[in-house]
Amino acid sequence: MPNNIFSRGCRSARWVVSILLGLLPLAPLQAEPLPDLVLQASLNYADHQTYRRVGFDVPPGVARITIEASYTGSEERTVVDFGLIDSEDQLVGWSGGNKRLFTVSAVDASPSYSPRPIRSGRWNVLLGIPNIRPASISELTLKVFFSRSLDISQEPAALRAPLKAGAGWYRGDLHTHTGHSDGSCPSLSLRKLVPCPVFKTADMAAQRKLDFVVITDHNASSHANAIRELQPYYDHLLLIPGRELTSFFGHATIIGTVKELDFKPHSPEQGWDAALAALDASSFVSINHPVRPSGEFCMGCGWRGPLPNPHLQGIEVVNGDDLGTPYSGLPFWQQALDEGHRLTAVAGSDNHQPDQDAANWGALGRPATVVFASELSQIAVIDALRKGHAFIDMSKALVTSAAPKIIELWAEVNGAQGMMGDLLTAKAGQPILLKVKVQNAQGLHLHLHASPSLKLPAEIGAVTGAEAAYELKAAAPTGKSWVFVEVRDAFGKLVMMSNPIYFQP
Ligand SMILES: [Zn+2]
Ligand SMILES: [Zn+2]
Repeated sequence: MPNNIFSRGCRSARWVVSILLGLLPLAPLQAEPLPDLVLQASLNYADHQTYRRVGFDVPPGVARITIEASYTGSEERTVVDFGLIDSEDQLVGWSGGNKRLFTVSAVDASPSYSPRPIRSGRWNVLLGIPNIRPASISELTLKVFFSRSLDISQEPAALRAPLKAGAGWYRGDLHTHTGHSDGSCPSLSLRKLVPCPVFKTADMAAQRKLDFVVITDHNASSHANAIRELQPYYDHLLLIPGRELTSFFGHATIIGTVKELDFKPHSPEQGWDAALAALDASSFVSINHPVRPSGEFCMGCGWRGPLPNPHLQGIEVVNGDDLGTPYSGLPFWQQALDEGHRLTAVAGSDNHQPDQDAANWGALGRPATVVFASELSQIAVIDALRKGHAFIDMSKALVTSAAPKIIELWAEVNGAQGMMGDLLTAKAGQPILLKVKVQNAQGLHLHLHASPSLKLPAEIGAVTGAEAAYELKAAAPTGKSWVFVEVRDAFGKLVMMSNPIYFQP
């Protein structure tokens, strides 16, 4: 056992909490977009059992309209129903009295409404007033939000409320397919395989106790409309509409937007730069299964695009059960790391059959990417992925009854603290204090993978308790360096890996 491990064993969780509170911003990640219009109307008995329109002008360049309605007088049994009429006088939808928040875009819409391109011009909120008493007056307010793109950052806060408040480790699958591309499952009568509906993926993800699942159909965002309907029901499972950009020269997961992107690069050199340049900082793009051979078995699966690439933030280092096979993306990521790139290591099941047994290749939820996010919301998960605040759990056993495994890596240099994914300034010779904490990893072995210049031991040792913490010291080298933690089983097989902490003078 290396002698620079000067403390180990079970610790109070308190230092972790104090580090977290000291380091991570608990404030909202983005300012709440204000409504573009606030429309008001006064209703009285003359409106009883009538329909009214409240018109508003939609300027060019709007990609999504979201309406939040409220009115006074419910205690006097005033009831207002809502619908929406577009600039061509077509009914977009009618939700009656059952929704006071609804959204419409070309890709997705709240149930009761149909997706459609947002054309500029005069739109109307259609009101129905089934009841208002003779002496009642109801003040109606309609907040209208215009989103200029279909990036998640452009959605009003009411549409993207977190499923769970508070910073913590959230476990998810970043790569799944449904019937909106080539995901399939047996039909109800088991007579044939059919394009699998989105709820099957959501159901299995919920059964496997994931906190989030990203649906990455090939070049398709149409599942986003199903997610609008399903998300309120799955109130513990964040459903994230993603996409697997799929070309003849490589595949990549993209999350954070459902806008149209051109997936058709004409050459590997051209890549997707033109499409990806249109994304904002609320997106995350990772190369999928980068070293798969491209050919008749898997068309366009291997990555032939340029690296480094300013539009990429991650690499899928584990796809399904490919760890340890010639198709593993781990050496590809490690080479990028050695070359000085900071790309978040992520994993995904690439599940195409949500019903398939957990023992099979690509079972949903295995491997899992576990992120340290400020809350369980799409924006917070993406923010954590971009920062590299994430580890990969490749355990064969899915987290159904077993307590989830957690690995944490922290470092302190000259009073500054950072976690996996962070870059810390460390001048040559400055002491670096590394902290490793694991939960529910008894019997597994901890290894360090570090730049040789950090002179860290390769092995920490076997984990003995349900919670264990370790501290190690190193001296900062003259150049850039990095370190990440691996958790291996008794046969040396990788079970978990953290993202690196990076140091630079
Ligand atoms: Zn793929
Ligand atoms: Zn895929």
